[in-house]
Amino acid sequence: MTRLLTDDDSASITKKIEDCCAEEILKKRITERMRGIRDAGYRVMRERVLASMQAPRVTIDGHQQSVLNLSSNNYLGLATHPQVVAASREGLEKRGLGAASARFICGTLDIHVELERKIAEFHGHEAAILYASCFDANAGLFDALLTKDDVVLSDSLNHASIIDGIRMSKAQKLIYKHVDLSDLEAKLSSCQDAKLRVIATDGVFSMDGEVAPLRNICDLAQKYKALVFIDECHATGIIGKTGRGTVEYWNIPGSVHIVNSSIGKALGGASGGYTSGPKELIELLRQRSRPYIFSSTLSSSVVAGAIKAFDILLSGSPLVAKLADNAKYFRKQMADVGFKIIPGDHPLVPVLVGDAEKAEKLAEQLFEEGVLVTSMCFPVVPQGEARIRVVLSAQHTHEDLDVCVRKFTKAGGKVGVI
Ligand SMILES: *Cc1c(COP(=O)(O)O)cnc(C)c1O
Repeated sequence: MTRLLTDDDSASITKKIEDCCAEEILKKRITERMRGIRDAGYRVMRERVLASMQAPRVTIDGHQQSVLNLSSNNYLGLATHPQVVAASREGLEKRGLGAASARFICGTLDIHVELERKIAEFHGHEAAILYASCFDANAGLFDALLTKDDVVLSDSLNHASIIDGIRMSKAQKLIYKHVDLSDLEAKLSSCQDAKLRVIATDGVFSMDGEVAPLRNICDLAQKYKALVFIDECHATGIIGKTGRGTVEYWNIPGSVHIVNSSIGKALGGASGGYTSGPKELIELLRQRSRPYIFSSTLSSSVVAGAIKAFDILLSGSPLVAKLADNAKYFRKQMADVGFKIIPGDHPLVPVLVGDAEKAEKLAEQLFEEGVLVTSMCFPVVPQGEARIRVVLSAQHTHEDLDVCVRKFTKAGGKVGVI
C-alpha cells in the first residue's frame, strides 16, 4: 500500500541525498589530491609490516626469511634490551597501562616526575617536561613562549614538526640557508630590535645524519643575544662520548638553552618526547603548552622503560661506543668498495645514488638479497639527490655489516650504481 510522504520521511531522504553528495565530493576531492601528489613527483609511501620485534633481523610482509634490518631508529638496540623490557613490564604491573588522564587532572604518576628529573640531569638542565611525542614537544614550545615581537631563526632543513611549531606561534620567522653561518649572522643582525631571538635547528638532521655546526651557532647566539633551541631526536643516546648528543659532540656544555628530543628512537623506541631547559620555561610549558595540557599522559610501561634507558646511558653504557665503532667501520667499508657516502661520522649513513628510480631499484634489490634499507627520494631530499638511508645500531655485529656491504656491492653492480 502506498502512503504519502511525511515531513520526517522527506527530511530523511534529503539527508540521504546530502550524505551521498558529501561522499561524492569527498571521493572527488581525494582523487584530485592523490593525482596532485603524484603529478608533483611525490612517491607513494609504502608501509612494510613487521611480524617480529624491532631487532637486527626482522620478518616482514609475510616473507618466511628474516631480513637484516638497517632501517629503524633503534640505534642502541634498547627497544628489546632485557633490562628495559623488564623495567617496562614492572611499570606496567605496578602502575597499570596508563593514568587515563591529562597530567594536570590526575595523570601525573610518580614515575613521570622521576623520568623528567632524569632527563634534566642527563642534559645538565634544571628541569624537563614530557610530551606524547617530540612532534608534540616541537608543536607546543614556540606558541607557549613567543609573541609577535619575537623572532625565530630557523634552518631551512629543519624537521617538519619544528616548522609547524613555529607556524603556530605569533613570532616572526626568518629561515636561514641550511647550516649557513654567514646567512644566519646576517639574519641575526637584522633582527636586533626584536624582544627575543631564538635560533632553532636540528642538532642532527634526520635525513642525512649531518651534525649542525652548533659550536659556531652558539658563538653567534652569544654575539647577537639569541637563545639556542636544538631538536636532538637523532642525537640523544647517539652522538657524543656518552650519548648526550650534539652539545657533547662539540664539547660545549651549558651553551644550549632548550633541548627537545624523542624517546621513540634511541631511548627504547616506544614513543614520547620532551623539552629540557630552565625551570621557569618548563613551568610555563606546563601552564601554556597546548599538546601537553590537552593530551593524555604517557603510558606507565613507556615511562618505566624510558627511565631504565636513561639509567643505562647515565651509567656510561658501552653501547654508545659500539654504535660509533659500527658507524666508522661501515662508512669505511662502503667507501672502499666505491659507494658515495655523504661524509661524517653519524650512524645514519646516506648512500648517494642520484637518480630516484635507481635508488628505489637498489633498495628493492637489497630487499631481495635480504637487507632492509630505505630509499629517500624527492621531496624528502632535493631532486637528483636520491639516496639510500642506512641506519646502524649498536646491536649490529661487524659480520652483519660485512654481509650488508657485500649485498650492497652485488646489488649496486646490478643496478649500475657502482
Ligand atoms: C623523529 C623526529 C621528530 C619527531 O619525534 P617523535 O617523538 O617521533 O614524534 C622530531 N624531530 C626530528 C628531527 C625527528 O627526527
